[in-house]
Amino acid sequence: MVVAQGNSWRSQAEATLAQRIETWFQREARDLPWRRRRSAYGTLVSEAMLQQTQVARVCPAWKAFLRNFPSVTALATASEARVLEAWQGLGYYRRARNLQAAAKVIVVKYRGKIPSDRASLEELPGIGPYCAGAISSIAYGQREAIVDGNVARVMMRIHGRNVDGDSRSGKTWLWNRARDYVKESCDPGMANEGLMELGATVCTPLSPKCDKCPVRMMCATRAVGKQDQIPRPRRRATRSILHAHAILVSVNGRWALVRRGESGLWAGLFFPPTIESPIAISRATLGKRLGVDAKAFSVCGTFTFVATHRTVRFRVWSVDDATAKFLKTAHKGSWSWHAKGSVKKLSITSAMQRVFACGITPFVKSTPTITSGKSRGKRVPSMQS
Ligand code: SF4
Repeated sequence: MVVAQGNSWRSQAEATLAQRIETWFQREARDLPWRRRRSAYGTLVSEAMLQQTQVARVCPAWKAFLRNFPSVTALATASEARVLEAWQGLGYYRRARNLQAAAKVIVVKYRGKIPSDRASLEELPGIGPYCAGAISSIAYGQREAIVDGNVARVMMRIHGRNVDGDSRSGKTWLWNRARDYVKESCDPGMANEGLMELGATVCTPLSPKCDKCPVRMMCATRAVGKQDQIPRPRRRATRSILHAHAILVSVNGRWALVRRGESGLWAGLFFPPTIESPIAISRATLGKRLGVDAKAFSVCGTFTFVATHRTVRFRVWSVDDATAKFLKTAHKGSWSWHAKGSVKKLSITSAMQRVFACGITPFVKSTPTITSGKSRGKRVPSMQS
């Protein structure tokens, strides 16, 4: 954005920018369920879901989630299993756990009312500067800025400046621009949402629709035709490959599951015992790792799961009865045992469904054809101020 020197001119330019985006948003906003009837709780849930997941997938999930847990208290008091089940299909289950943890804090500390100020919001589990700004401005009309991937791109293009959104100076510049912008807006929530909407639908990473843009006359990037250079295209990170050997162990009709660690893929979820390795491992190595004869293993299926940063090559094994009994004793206390019905209930990720579909027949009506935890979201992770 090219403005004359001086604070008043800058403020005037920011005010015009905000006004145009707010007017455009009132006219062009997509009809999304959480926009129909605003509530702080609805905004909190939608913001949690929209991080890393595309809007089309979030819409039905958001409606179902609010039917299941219509209030902060209902969410705080529900079992974790129910919350995770309601999160099915969205992936990144840690968000669901954080959301419930935040609901518990809100019930205890704020008597069930979601706080409106940024500082209190940022203290809640899973809520960073972006999410706090979004809830505070969209649900409560507070003059708080937000910076997510969409906002960053629009700001860089309007100002015709390439900054590194991962660097401290880049973050500072982006947050300052977002603050200047919201400071001059008429309706901070609408201005912020409009900015994000503009990034998601018009000022897209590739081929922005500048002819439909409400601020095209103020855009420094459009003026010099550098839309394909601002922001600088990121080099794609190489996707690593992980080999996962999932072992289906059954004793007396009950199946072994292990709760995964608190970080990484499927964090904290139940999964069949799985040995992971950056390279493919042989049946003999598998036997050695588990302390059993390699001949006890039979392959019952293979498939590939594409996650955001890596590709997981699954090989699913079954073991004979004697080995299963041995493993049950050897892993007493660390493996838990579940009947088929409860395994199905715990199989909330498509990867786990596919693992069991290899060994329990019929496990799912139809094996999912695409298994991916890959982000297709238009909303991209926020940048910390
Ligand atoms: S004119 Fe084009 S590049 Fe500039 S903000 Fe609008 S859509 Fe983005």
